[in-house]
Amino acid sequence: MATCLLCQQTLRKRILFLDILLLRKEKEGVCADCKEKFLLISETHCPACFKEGEAKLCSDCLYWYKKGATVSHESLYHYNEQMANYISRYKFFGDYLLRMVFATELKEYFKDKEADVLVPIPISEKRMGERGFNQVTGLLTAAGLSFQEILQKEDTKKQSEKTRQERLTLHQPFSIVAKVDVPDKIILIDDIYTTGATIQLAKQLLMKNGAKTVTSFSLAR
Ligand SMILES: [Zn+2]
Ligand SMILES: [Zn+2]
Repeated sequence: MATCLLCQQTLRKRILFLDILLLRKEKEGVCADCKEKFLLISETHCPACFKEGEAKLCSDCLYWYKKGATVSHESLYHYNEQMANYISRYKFFGDYLLRMVFATELKEYFKDKEADVLVPIPISEKRMGERGFNQVTGLLTAAGLSFQEILQKEDTKKQSEKTRQERLTLHQPFSIVAKVDVPDKIILIDDIYTTGATIQLAKQLLMKNGAKTVTSFSLAR
């Protein structure tokens, strides 16, 4: 019987005769109770980064604008407790099946953005070795979206291992994969957007290497 990917309760879904006949299994099932705890970002959000509840530029965006950078970010969900739990199970506990949870929503969101190339924020080789997958490409693959992995990330020290000076300077951890052409129109994809620092670093690098427009998207903000 199909159970919810998040809470394991049995899905109260009408099972069609055809499903039984074809032995079709629930693939991305999340029960209604779990789904309604994920909150879509409302109409009132920062115009530049989609931060929930901000009618004007938020303080994170003001910081970037003051530094001469621009922000053009969209996001679907509010980073609430439910989302934090989801991300931690998916990413930190490596439950790869959870990539399916937002497949339909992501597919729908990117349906009209075919002219842009989706570029996932990479994880380092060390992280890849530990986790076994990049959580961002997992989400995109689950939604059946195509993307180009043109960025790579070097292993960085943990915050606690850094000197004070190292913590204060924004270090560029990304580089362009050898021999790839950087597309003109790019949407950078990440799972969560916190201050925007990761996106800004990736964007800087892509613009320096020939991209004309770089916008960004994250599942949660
Ligand atoms: Zn559930
Ligand atoms: Zn903002």
